[in-house]
Amino acid sequence: MRTRRLASNLRDLRRTASQLPDAVVLMDQDEHVRWCNHAAETLLGIRLPEDRGVQLRQRLQASELAGWLRQGGEREPLHDTIAPGKPDSQISVSLLPFGRRQQVLLARDTSHVTRLEQMRRDFVANVSHELRTPLTVIHGYLELIDPEDAPALAPVLGEMRAQSKRMGQIVEDLLTLSRLETQHRVEDERVPMAPLLATLRKEAEAISQGRHTVTVEADAALDLLGSPKDLHSALSNLVSNAVRYTPAGGGITIGWRRDDDGGATYSVTDTGYGIPASHLARLTERFYRVSSSRSRGTGGTGLGLSIVKHVLNLHQARLSIDSEPGRGSTFACHFGPERVLPAGGSRDES
Ligand code: ADP
Repeated sequence: MRTRRLASNLRDLRRTASQLPDAVVLMDQDEHVRWCNHAAETLLGIRLPEDRGVQLRQRLQASELAGWLRQGGEREPLHDTIAPGKPDSQISVSLLPFGRRQQVLLARDTSHVTRLEQMRRDFVANVSHELRTPLTVIHGYLELIDPEDAPALAPVLGEMRAQSKRMGQIVEDLLTLSRLETQHRVEDERVPMAPLLATLRKEAEAISQGRHTVTVEADAALDLLGSPKDLHSALSNLVSNAVRYTPAGGGITIGWRRDDDGGATYSVTDTGYGIPASHLARLTERFYRVSSSRSRGTGGTGLGLSIVKHVLNLHQARLSIDSEPGRGSTFACHFGPERVLPAGGSRDES
């Protein structure tokens, strides 16, 4: 009686697992397949009973998934890889230890999420592109009107020019973000840091117009390897933020130093308004602002840190933010040893 109940429970359990929408493969510690459900058959292309006892990485040879298993997949999940059994679909895969000397591989179809992401990216890029020309025309005509011809309208004209310039900047930033999002790698070029730091200092002084002290502390005779244009844009975004969010009389320090791991850190420290800790995690989201009025008042688009994050990702670098309200902030970019070169070599050397 008890045996029958146990057998029936086991059958129910198997039936439920076999109908799960996610792929489940039960394996021994050497990845030999012991059992899998229907979704695993569809997504991974394995079959029972034929594939029982077969090693999964052998069975899925030549797929990215097999390479991931070979490198010890249990460490980190594999995201958005092509499903070996359904090449028009993408899956996210993870590997978990299970029972004694067993492991279970879980795979989820993420195609619809990837497609939605792509649609969102295309939509934003298309809208930005479509807005670019009309905005350029409006801006051009506004520039042509001389305020002296209509003195009563002068303040309105000034506001219209400022707003059309801001819209133009938002469109340009959105287009930059779309490009960065679709890009998977950058062309590697030597980026000489000494002249770049000098340029960043000049940019800070130009935005500040003498209201802040700007200091450069460059201890490292190191250059970077990556995209000169994108790195300049990211590093100067941090400088521009530091100036814009620091009241007159404050100080901005641009730093460049060698790290113990052979990499290097670029940092911008200000003595400005600072950011409450609760905002830090969301700061690099598009249009996320601690204070909308302060951001708009200083000509911000709300996209600067998003661009910084994407550029750093493309260079396998990391952004860290340290801030205290009322005292100031430090934004630091940590570049790994593979992105750092001794300063001064020729460009081709890289
Ligand atoms: P924005 O164009 O609004 O400056 P960003 O993406 O560059 O957009 O920054 C997002 C928000 O992060 C800003 O609106 C501001 O609230 C905050 N922020 C960025 N840098 C600083 C800084 N150095 N000091 C204080 N707040 C900052």
